[in-house]
Amino acid sequence: MTTLPVIPTDPDIPDAVAVRRRPTLPPRHLADLDLAGRRSAVTGLGEPAFRAKQISTHYFGRLVRDIDAMTDLPAASRARLIDDLLPTLLTPVRELACDDGATRKTLWRLHDGALVESVLMGYPDRVTACVSSQAGCGMACPFCATGQAGLTRNLSVAEIVDQVVYLAGVAASGAVTGSPPRLSRVVFMGMGEPLANYPRVIEAVRRLTTPAPEGLGLSQRHITVSTVGLVPAMRKLIAEDLSVTLALSLHAPDDDLRDELVPVNQRWKVAEVLDAAFDYAAQTGRRVSIEYALIRDVNDQPWRADLLGRLLHGKLAHVNLIPLNPTPGSRWDASPKPVEREFARRLRDAGVATTVRDTRGREIDGACGQLAASEVTVADADGVAAGTEVTRRSSERAECETQ
Ligand code: SAH
Repeated sequence: MTTLPVIPTDPDIPDAVAVRRRPTLPPRHLADLDLAGRRSAVTGLGEPAFRAKQISTHYFGRLVRDIDAMTDLPAASRARLIDDLLPTLLTPVRELACDDGATRKTLWRLHDGALVESVLMGYPDRVTACVSSQAGCGMACPFCATGQAGLTRNLSVAEIVDQVVYLAGVAASGAVTGSPPRLSRVVFMGMGEPLANYPRVIEAVRRLTTPAPEGLGLSQRHITVSTVGLVPAMRKLIAEDLSVTLALSLHAPDDDLRDELVPVNQRWKVAEVLDAAFDYAAQTGRRVSIEYALIRDVNDQPWRADLLGRLLHGKLAHVNLIPLNPTPGSRWDASPKPVEREFARRLRDAGVATTVRDTRGREIDGACGQLAASEVTVADADGVAAGTEVTRRSSERAECETQ
């Protein structure tokens, strides 16, 4: 694992900028490669070709991420393979559990010091992993904690896949109270804009959906990719032979407001972005999910519900209303419940299927990126990286899809 030295303080650069580490590419990991690629990697290291399948079966089939736990491998082989195929990509910094163990949030430090989050959510019939696709995010949505910090870097395929394999292992250990032990769904609703890291996200989806031992063997239909609406990438996704669910973070049905709430709207307007979403639905036969964070007195007016209803009427789409989880220092708040109910009623009256996201507790650190943001503050104050800490808080909230 390589960590670059902290950039020395420059008198012209404010401290907050001076201590930021320069992002670097992570080391290669077996999850970056398909089975053929793993075969040539192991033979290149002087190991027999069958080792590729052996370590793949451990990693994807048995969810073993630590090479030292792959005890049927000779010690000399383990020593050879660890650096080139099983380096540590994710180091846990904090884990929070809540909802009596049904929700677990992990803050990870990557090899270059960047921080990302993943969340595991258990339900009576399913377990869902919410994963990050980038460290930070460049989309700058003003209500989102991740958007405030800007983009650090794209995650590699393996950094994405390893979050899922770790969470699948947690689920398999029976740690998610009241849920089946098999992780069945993945949503790209953690940190980052998945379609801004397009090739790696698509390859991660393929790795997650290819049967073991090459991949994790999840169903494509149980994977949701969420986007702010990068139209060219959405069009590219339509051309892929994939049947993942697409979620579109709309948050406003009119360009005036959406230009502010989702700044990328200044480039691709509501009509254009909805067209791309409807074309995706037509191509895949899968209903698109329109995400709409309800913000008090900002986007929750009855006329906006009616306008959204008209835009979506008769389309293969449903609306997922999200009570806003205010970020620290934000001037915005969630809409009152009666306003939320009226908004949903108007959409349903327009014939649009509408659900309200289950937010699992309200008070702290929950919105996307808040855990990472608070950790940066702690690390900056201490001048050192925090150790791993497991905390249980009943009010912890996962700001993630609840499919
Ligand atoms: N960049 C992608 C995926 C990450 S965010 C996207 O925007 O779709 C996942 C969802 O959570 C998005 O719909 C996002 O708009 C929403 N979200 C972000 N911050 C939020 C907050 N503070 N309260 C409620 N929803 C929020």
